[in-house]
Amino acid sequence: MDSLPDIGGESSNSENTGNNNNSLTLAGNSSASSSSSATPSRYENQKRRDWNTFGQYLKNHRPPLSLNRCSGAHVLEFLRYLDQFGKTKIHTPICPFYGHPNPPAPCPCPLRQAWGSLDALIGRLRAAYEENGGKPEANPFGARAVRLYLREVRDLQSKARGVSYEKKKRKRLPPSQPPQLQLPPPPGAI
Ligand SMILES: [Zn+2]
Repeated sequence: MDSLPDIGGESSNSENTGNNNNSLTLAGNSSASSSSSATPSRYENQKRRDWNTFGQYLKNHRPPLSLNRCSGAHVLEFLRYLDQFGKTKIHTPICPFYGHPNPPAPCPCPLRQAWGSLDALIGRLRAAYEENGGKPEANPFGARAVRLYLREVRDLQSKARGVSYEKKKRKRLPPSQPPQLQLPPPPGAI
């Protein structure tokens, strides 16, 4: 398992909206972390892995896609591609468990990436893009379409799972890992 270029291993089945709002302030000021010989933070490691994963995705993209031609639409494509590796049950409106946070029985609804994971991922990639020389105004991860998509996913998932992403009680959550995605091996890597 550890050979997977994963975005993390947590099956984020609980609400997880933390750690997605603090990633952008450091963009353009990465000298502090890179000049230090200390162990990179978990966040930095995760960000680097995410960036590599996205690079792999571009590399395997057909037709070929270079970073500077990457648009918000391509980012959405990437997010939809990741969905097939998700581990979060998202009930369809006709499912009897629609809106139940803890269904009592299995159901055939699809598994998706949780919104909190996607949101955090986009934050990391957005920062990584600029740290790797991308211009903020051309940042595809900050595109309006991406923001709208994430909002849509959040609303949809909060309804389907009966989980409010807006008002979050952190009290009962263990101080666990930040939201992370389960990532596939890059296409063509087999
Ligand atoms: Zn269901």
